[in-house]
Amino acid sequence: MVDILNLTFSELESFLVERGEKAFRAKQLWQWMWNKYTRDFDLMTNVSKATRAMLKEHAEIVWPEVVTMQKSSDGTTKFLLRLRDGALVETVLIPGSNGRLTQCLSCQVGCAMGCTFCSTGTMGFERNMTMAEILGQVLVAREYLQDDAANPTLRNLVFMGMGEPLLNMREMMRSLESLNSVLGLQFSPRRITVSTCGIEKGLRELGESGLAYLAVSLHAPTQELRKQIMPKAANWHLNDLITALENYPLKTRERITFEYLLLGGVNDSVEHAQQLVRLVSRTKGKMNLIIYNPSEGDPYKAPTEEAVLAFEQVLWSKNITAIIRKSKGADIKAACGQLKAEQQALCGE
Ligand code: SF4
Repeated sequence: MVDILNLTFSELESFLVERGEKAFRAKQLWQWMWNKYTRDFDLMTNVSKATRAMLKEHAEIVWPEVVTMQKSSDGTTKFLLRLRDGALVETVLIPGSNGRLTQCLSCQVGCAMGCTFCSTGTMGFERNMTMAEILGQVLVAREYLQDDAANPTLRNLVFMGMGEPLLNMREMMRSLESLNSVLGLQFSPRRITVSTCGIEKGLRELGESGLAYLAVSLHAPTQELRKQIMPKAANWHLNDLITALENYPLKTRERITFEYLLLGGVNDSVEHAQQLVRLVSRTKGKMNLIIYNPSEGDPYKAPTEEAVLAFEQVLWSKNITAIIRKSKGADIKAACGQLKAEQQALCGE
């Protein structure tokens, strides 16, 4: 059986032609799967009976299964999903001020990067997710929202859930291409952000594809401190990362988003802010300052309000756009990887 949700449009055409079908059937199937969120071949009424019979014999459409869904008091909705091999991943819907939603997507089961502030990082890496599994998260959300692709409430996608996108480059790129399809999910590159902790291999390819905006997690202004906070990411020296970002292909008016998680007493001083200014002023970027929101037993503490404001002030005084972001969904543990860690603890895995 072939999971045809895992085929790009051209792969779907080849799948059909190899089985004696006309290539135009790919367009019909693609619309049923990605635009009308249909999993049952019998509901595909404009597909001939013979083709449906062939599909039932050779193909399947597999969505992730929703294990739990939790809604936070601030409207953040978190899904724990089970993939066909039993692996658990999570995806989060985050409400924006305009009533539109952003979905945070996972791209790997677990993560090899071991960032010290992240619960996914402590789980280690299990496996890459396939395109069907990555985009299956969007299908689950769209079905839950009863969303219309032509006028969606689900506005933006960010690859900022479990996993490092640039370490699953093949499936990431296939997913970005399929997201772009006007016959399917209809997410233009302007509505997609890929967030990386900075991986040399793949960065250039992503930029040249023009298929998504780039966000880079810095979290430290010096190589030494970054090595403490993000030990594996720091294998690529911070200066080399910044040089690569200086040369990153950007469209007119496009900027790189830098993510900087403010950890109380660790990376949140005025001196750190000044070092950060020196580091990023060579690039075309803007800064998201994220206030760390610890749970019990976490290794870091939240920054004080004074430290956050002083940090922000240093950036603005040097003409760097800085926006303070609060972690959403704190009451449902919507930070990366936390729900899965809880679920596994409950299951005794
Ligand atoms: Fe992996 Fe992202 Fe967590 Fe770092 S923050 S360990 S890259 S999931």
